Amino acid sequence: MQTSPSTQIVNVGGFDIGGPHFTVIAGPCSIESRDQFLQTALGVKASGAHILRGGIWKMRTSTRDFQGLGTDSFNLIKEVCQQTGLSLISEVTDIRQIEEIYDLVGGFQVGARNMHNYSLLKELGMQKKPVLLKRGFAALINEWIKASEYITKGGNPNVILCERGIRTFETATRNTLDLNAVVYAKQNSPLPVIVDPSHAVGISSLVPQLAYAAAAAGADGIIVEVHPRPSEALSDGMQALTLADFDTMMKKLSRILTAVDRPLHKGTLYAN
Ligand code: PEP
Ligand code: MN
Repeated sequence: MQTSPSTQIVNVGGFDIGGPHFTVIAGPCSIESRDQFLQTALGVKASGAHILRGGIWKMRTSTRDFQGLGTDSFNLIKEVCQQTGLSLISEVTDIRQIEEIYDLVGGFQVGARNMHNYSLLKELGMQKKPVLLKRGFAALINEWIKASEYITKGGNPNVILCERGIRTFETATRNTLDLNAVVYAKQNSPLPVIVDPSHAVGISSLVPQLAYAAAAAGADGIIVEVHPRPSEALSDGMQALTLADFDTMMKKLSRILTAVDRPLHKGTLYAN
């Protein structure tokens, strides 16, 4: 088991990702409304999350599905980040969006569908802000690691690798969490590696178990989808934890992390 810190430590919103402590990023799949985003942010913070997630522009399989609030969410993001003190990580799907949200976010996310978008990666390599690079759902581990080098070699060392499940022959779950990739990437890349159990499994009741497995396997953190009312979510409601489920998960996660000598960051409710 590899639980040692990464060579490259990436600071987002005051929290070192890849250092001795475990990082929890949580929030909704998409930013939908003031009520939904503020309630989620306050709730996940109270349960010990360190960084907020939330999609501004959503890459949906169908054009008929909710595409995100886009620029209409900007004032809301400012308000919620200011009120909670949490930093936001949000996905960019186009190089023009980098500048648009630069001052609103603590880090950029590259989604699974864009892992091979090398012009986007190169542009992010010219920025100073951290980049969370999701693994493509059909990408080899080494393709993912090589993709990260488009950012690091461009001059931005602040990259976090994120395993979010790959497509296999299995259909019972949305994807298959590849824990091999987590331990392999930890040993073969200098970058921190986190796990997205939400997109990996796609079923909310299974998300906590995969989060615990990620923690035990030596991941540097997790990114988890949470919604105050998952049945009303405009995207990925099936995999969203309720605020109560997130709170329960955080308590157990904290105990598992103590057992593997990788405590949650200090300054959060359940940190040890
Ligand atoms: C997301 O984080 O909401 C998302 C779209 O993830 P992925 O790119 O892993 O599908
Ligand atoms: Mn999602």
